[in-house]
Amino acid sequence: MTLPKEFVAGQKEKLLAEKILLESELNKISTKDNNLEGNFDANFPDYGRSPEDNATEGEEYSSRVGIENSLELKLQDVNLALDNIKENNYGVCNKCGAELEQDRLVVMPSATRCVTCK
Ligand SMILES: [Zn+2]
Repeated sequence: MTLPKEFVAGQKEKLLAEKILLESELNKISTKDNNLEGNFDANFPDYGRSPEDNATEGEEYSSRVGIENSLELKLQDVNLALDNIKENNYGVCNKCGAELEQDRLVVMPSATRCVTCK
């Protein structure tokens, strides 16, 4: 079974919108690494010079690193799914080649692996 063209076109729209959203979230807390495609580095916050400020900065930084990593992973999935659309491989598991459930793609347009390989 091949996915209907209109369905894939709709998924592409969703993925592009998600990509813009993820990139804008990433830009708020991190800087794009120009040397490594798709990589972002969390920005170190600057609240002041007192030990309390430094402690808060450290905490804020670790939380940014966590958020940044999870956004970055989501963005990688979105980009991968967009590549798959370009190569007419959308909806096929990257690992075992099985076709993904259309329902699953509706819920998660960036899914690139089947439930078993996830
Ligand atoms: Zn699979």
